[in-house]
Amino acid sequence: MTNLVQTTGPAVRGLSDAEAAARLAADGPNLVAPPRRHGVGYRVGRQLADPLVALLLAAGVVTAALGDVPDTLIILLVVAVNTVIGVVQEVRADAAISALDRMAAPVARVVRDGRDRLVPAAELVRGDHVRLEAGDVVPADLELTEAQRATFDESALTGESVPVHRFATEPAGAGTVLAGGRAAGTVTATGPASALGRIADLVSRTRPGLTPLQRRLTALGRLLGVTAVVVSSLVFALGVLAGQPVTRMAITAVSLVVAAVPESLPAVVTLALALGARRMARTRAIPRQLHAVETLGSVTVIASDKTGTLTENRMTVQRAVTADGTRHTVTGTGYDPAGTVSGDISEGLRTLARAGALCNDASLLPPDGEHSHWAAAGDPMEAALLAFAARCGFDPDAERTAAPRVAEQPFDQAHRRMTTVHRTPDGRYLTTRKGAPETVLDPDRHGDLLAAAAELATAGLRVLAVATAVTVGRPDPAAPPPLHAAGLVAIGDPLRATARDTAAEFARSGVHLLLITGDHPGTATAIGRDLGILEPGDEVARGDLGPLTAGTIEKTRVYARTRPEQKLDIVAALQDRGEVVAMTGDGVNDAPALRRADIGVAMGSGTEVARQAAELVLVDDNLGTVADAIGEGRRIYDNIRRFLRYALSGGLAELLVMLAGPLLGMPLALLPAQLLWINLLTHGVPGVALGAEPAEADVLRRPPRSPQESVLGAGLLRDVLTGAGLLATVTLAAGVTAQRLDLPWQSVMFLVLGFAQLGVALAVRARPAPGAGRNRSLPAAVVVCLLLQVAGVLAAPMHTLLGTAPLPLATILACCAVATVPGAVLRIAGRRDR
Ligand code: ADP
Ligand code: MG
Repeated sequence: MTNLVQTTGPAVRGLSDAEAAARLAADGPNLVAPPRRHGVGYRVGRQLADPLVALLLAAGVVTAALGDVPDTLIILLVVAVNTVIGVVQEVRADAAISALDRMAAPVARVVRDGRDRLVPAAELVRGDHVRLEAGDVVPADLELTEAQRATFDESALTGESVPVHRFATEPAGAGTVLAGGRAAGTVTATGPASALGRIADLVSRTRPGLTPLQRRLTALGRLLGVTAVVVSSLVFALGVLAGQPVTRMAITAVSLVVAAVPESLPAVVTLALALGARRMARTRAIPRQLHAVETLGSVTVIASDKTGTLTENRMTVQRAVTADGTRHTVTGTGYDPAGTVSGDISEGLRTLARAGALCNDASLLPPDGEHSHWAAAGDPMEAALLAFAARCGFDPDAERTAAPRVAEQPFDQAHRRMTTVHRTPDGRYLTTRKGAPETVLDPDRHGDLLAAAAELATAGLRVLAVATAVTVGRPDPAAPPPLHAAGLVAIGDPLRATARDTAAEFARSGVHLLLITGDHPGTATAIGRDLGILEPGDEVARGDLGPLTAGTIEKTRVYARTRPEQKLDIVAALQDRGEVVAMTGDGVNDAPALRRADIGVAMGSGTEVARQAAELVLVDDNLGTVADAIGEGRRIYDNIRRFLRYALSGGLAELLVMLAGPLLGMPLALLPAQLLWINLLTHGVPGVALGAEPAEADVLRRPPRSPQESVLGAGLLRDVLTGAGLLATVTLAAGVTAQRLDLPWQSVMFLVLGFAQLGVALAVRARPAPGAGRNRSLPAAVVVCLLLQVAGVLAAPMHTLLGTAPLPLATILACCAVATVPGAVLRIAGRRDR
């Protein structure tokens, strides 16, 4: 949405705030599908309905019926703790997601109490007067009261993508897009009653239920469940064959399944993604969908669609060339009208400056309480032309009043020019046109100016040509009379101070940065060089010289004179090569490319339709923020894998111990209550704490992970198997030794297995950059669990509850020492965690 405020048409008062509030209360919010709020009861119910928990509860009923109080208590404890952790994580994740929803929620410009107001689109009510600009999504069903060359893209409702003209008194349906022009209208229906609401079931949800990673992990969880059931059945059979009571073995088998399956996996993943999304939002990159968080971690190409994301988008005219070839240098800072122009202010220069101010929709805002400098309203480049006109001695506002605009052909990226027609005080008509030099100037007559334009572009300046004509009759701006060149203006837009670092950061992190611009090849080359993405000898592809072939796209880093629709071709060709593409955009025409890209990145200052098509919104329009977001995406993925390493190796170790125990003369290596206790300590809090680990020091210095790579890939499965093997070996070895020494071997194994798993939690933690924040919750969780584990063998009530026996302090210390082995081996052998 531009901040260009235009108030035309009859004064509208709109609804009063009180009336709007009353209607909102009566009709409900303007949301197609209002979010459902889940009560705690519902959430608890869902946790209990989990098959694992249900199984455990069934086992609890059996132990209770048998009068086995300790086992029943432990089972209830495990269920309670699991439920609390599950519900708390879900609530936190939901809170983070709805905070994002609020940040990314569309706003609408309405007139209330006679004043223009930006309100959340969800608060629109019938009777509201809504103003629309090109790129706005129609927020509710409207009856148009004003339509200036308004064309609507109604594909969301009709599937027809050719924009249609709409006029005052005609309807405009919610969900359609004002593709061009300007419009205003009165709301006739909102929310479910609107055109969009009636087809809501057909509308793809903006927030799909599960991300690809979550889906894959759910499948993995199921596989683990089946494995655990099979192994537990084996343990059951072995135990019964060895003469153990059937009920006891049944309870053991159930406990083993519960202990081995990382039941907190979905909660940990959702929470990690949701909290990651919130952290990104704090750095001013708002993910609109959870899956963006994980996809960001695997981005391989980022295509910056325009210079504004890498430049400051703060433009100043630096050079001017008049029709006769005279060159002028312009000085001054920003949009401040104060400044100087070298040489004589000739008649030619005056024609150029005045035309630039007339063929113009921007305005200059003087310093006020909010800004200490002059600011631009509207297109910054046009604002620069106003400042230039002022430096040539004009008052742009006075010129506009003296020669009011009577017709226009607005700027569009396909034609790259803009034409306006003005009525002059003497009753004649002045046509002014400005745009890309090759679309304004005739190569036969203005070869010299075109050569000068190319030269200025090579210096990195953005060059506009200006042409004018005076006629007696009123011309059609689309087919004006022959125009005379007025000259060139060259506009500088400095690279952001951080742009070179950003480009270098992408290079280090293995992400290819591409520059795609509508600008002149010379300007694009200069900027590409400056950024370090274009080496001498590299070619710049030109969108205006025909279609871009896959071969061209393969080797090109900088695209000039690109049309918006060509961005789609570029994204598609890159994806065909297996790249994961992030593409920036802000205009109406960018929406298809944003949608097609794996990560569409919209500018906070861009159009609503671009924002809604995107996965990530850059509040500050700064591409550097994407690099941070990619780092954050990688961190989250790393942490999910940390949790998997830890939880899977622990669960597998428990299965191995129970399976191997009978072969080593330990028919029941661990009692059901002991298994559940270990499960409680190891899967619960430390697992959750792993999700808060900081980024690896090299998170932005390594290549992106391959999108084809499985979550268990890149050494994770190997680590899980090694870890499980080490854990089981150490535990069994400790048990056998204790047996020989006539110590309570079961309690020894209980201690060693618990301790050793905590050691693994510490071993898989991140190796952050020196000075980076540490995750204190992990060591804290480990210490608490360590103490609880010791209490399990030392505290008298625990002996009844867990069936443990007291151990001498020396033995406990020995267990502790032995238990450090798996963690230490993993940490030392562990290559960089990915
Ligand atoms: P970018 O990809 O950098 O955003 P644009 O598509 O906005 O480039 O602009 C492409 C070209 O169109 C510019 O180099 C300039 O020559 C011309 N142009 C841009 N804005 C305007 C305007 N408001 N009026 C006339 N011509 C313009
Ligand atoms: Mg632009």
